[in-house]
Amino acid sequence: MNFDQAPMLVIWEVTQACDLACVHCRASAQSDRHPRELTTEQGYRLLDEIRSFGDASAAAKPAHGGGHPFQPGEPPLMVFTGGDPLKRPDLFELLRYSASIGLRTNVTPSATPLLTAKAIDGFQQAGVSRMAISLDGPDAATHDEFRGIPGTFDRAMFALRHARDIGLDTQFQTTVTKRNMARLEEMAEIVQEVRSKMWSLFFLIVTGRALENDDLTAEEYEKVFEFMYQLSKTAPFGVKTTEAMHYRRYVAQRAKAEHGITENESAKGVAWRTSGVSDGKGFVFVSHTGEVFPSGFLPLSGGNVLRDRLTDVYRNSELFRDLRDTDHRGGKCGLCEYRKICGGSRSRAYAFTGDYQAEDPRCTYQPHLAEALAG
Ligand code: SF4
Repeated sequence: MNFDQAPMLVIWEVTQACDLACVHCRASAQSDRHPRELTTEQGYRLLDEIRSFGDASAAAKPAHGGGHPFQPGEPPLMVFTGGDPLKRPDLFELLRYSASIGLRTNVTPSATPLLTAKAIDGFQQAGVSRMAISLDGPDAATHDEFRGIPGTFDRAMFALRHARDIGLDTQFQTTVTKRNMARLEEMAEIVQEVRSKMWSLFFLIVTGRALENDDLTAEEYEKVFEFMYQLSKTAPFGVKTTEAMHYRRYVAQRAKAEHGITENESAKGVAWRTSGVSDGKGFVFVSHTGEVFPSGFLPLSGGNVLRDRLTDVYRNSELFRDLRDTDHRGGKCGLCEYRKICGGSRSRAYAFTGDYQAEDPRCTYQPHLAEALAG
């Protein structure tokens, strides 16, 4: 993969407005829209620019196939997020435009009264390929406490079941914390019941309203990784992480142990499946006011789409180039044999230390080289 030229995933935070008040909200969402949100016209221009990444990736990549989730020449996956995207009256126009220019288009609405059957039907009619819904507990008591508003669990379940019934693919999203880590098995049953295509587990970055006390210890991360790894062997849906790049190291270690393959072969297998995406490497986040961030959890801007070209910021800004160079990692991540497929969460390193190249403080792994240097 040549992520120096084009990302695999572009996330646009179309608004920070949202009627929920979730304890871990990245955006510290407000109920009102920001006056400097990108306009509809600016949104169209942004989508055109995102589409043009596909042309560059075609030129920059060898023409190999083989069923990889991201093919050369394919434009990035386009995700409309918030806040709550449904707070924007022009959302359906923007979604329609995005799909019409050939962007695979996903949307992540909040489970509020705005998420009606009509809205979900509207996503499908606009050409949305997948709707992502967050559920952080297997029942109303757990989930609603986390989301801050009673009734949110029932609304999320309604949305997932309605999408299933009309044939719109869904992604099930869970923020893993101390509050729900013991309930993940029950949640897996719900993912299966609503027939989501993917269960995406978010690991906390202590920013916005996210509380440090809710975050797992490094050892607890490993326990959740084991659960995910075993689940992924039999589940009828995909299982992936956000901001837990070291799950790839875990999978590579397990593959090596179980199949008797070399470290290099197991790492290559994981790289092929996950593409080695991380903050600023295969991934770019455009904020509601057009700032270009390497991730929604890493508040450092490489430029602004109102004055810079997104393609230029992604390819050439010092920040993005530095993030893509895993040899620049500090601490044990810089010495780690898994740094090319993992490299640690840059957002978590920044949230903890103010240095985005520092080691990921939630990883238990001790690299061989670090051990050798210490010994
Ligand atoms: S030490 Fe860093 S690069 Fe190595 S597995 Fe842990 S987080 Fe990943």
